[in-house]
Amino acid sequence: MANDTLASLRVAPAKPFSLRQHDPGDTLGWNKEAAETELEAVKLRLDALQVRLFAEERRSVLLVLQAMDAAGKDGTIRNILSGLNPAGFHVTGFGVPGGPETQHDYLWRVHEMVPRKGVIGIFNRSHYEDVLVVRVKNFVPRSVWSKRFDHIRDFERMLGDEGTTVVKCFLYVSKDEQRERLQERVDDPEKRWKFRLGDLDDRTLWPKYQKAYEDAIGRTSTAAAPWYVVPADRNWVRNLAVAKILLHHLERLDPQLPEPEEGIEGVVVR
Ligand code: AMP
Ligand code: MG
Repeated sequence: MANDTLASLRVAPAKPFSLRQHDPGDTLGWNKEAAETELEAVKLRLDALQVRLFAEERRSVLLVLQAMDAAGKDGTIRNILSGLNPAGFHVTGFGVPGGPETQHDYLWRVHEMVPRKGVIGIFNRSHYEDVLVVRVKNFVPRSVWSKRFDHIRDFERMLGDEGTTVVKCFLYVSKDEQRERLQERVDDPEKRWKFRLGDLDDRTLWPKYQKAYEDAIGRTSTAAAPWYVVPADRNWVRNLAVAKILLHHLERLDPQLPEPEEGIEGVVVR
């Protein structure tokens, strides 16, 4: 697999970052048919490594997915996890905070859902909403959200030190492609439940969101918890890229099966 391809999606730490260097329509030099075949092979590897991670029970992985509406967060999760052992994964979606969530700091609800040892956690939205929608819609003043980049870097570094590898993907969809997908949500009765009129407000705030994403990604991509910008106008590119990114980090962890109990060898089960 061209690891260079993944490296080209990874955002370098501590450098100014611009989305202009990335193209939502990029195919990364792949073609659809080969990509779909490769995805199945990547998933077999993911399955094998996930079993080892689970058996080892020492470390965990947290994959954060962030994106504008209709970029395909749900679709990516469904696609990558289908056919894999659900016991090894834990998916959490974060919506508008409610109830006790509003009575705590913004990381409280997130920390609670960080995967336990042996498990791969996937966040559909995350603590990044607290420097994205919260910033764009002025839910808190700049003096409050601007401190959060430091909190988030520290929080993710702590998770890394304590055994949770954090990997973050921004599914980068173009405004045109989003229009088509939102229109489809309106037109298709099976998809209409996903559409809210508020999605149109977010669309009018597109440039503000892009700026907020650039700041968030640029300021929180670290060697320990990198951001990847995944081209998301084509589902098959997006799916394979995210699967490969997850696989790459699992391979780096290289989880080991635990030593068997002493005396097992030679046991005959009658
Ligand atoms: P969806 O992912 O489409 O189900 O929508 C979830 C909604 O919750 C999105 O509009 C998010 O922007 C919003 N959301 C998630 N986290 C927060 C947060 N911390 N503050 C405000 N809104 C949030
Ligand atoms: Mg939505």
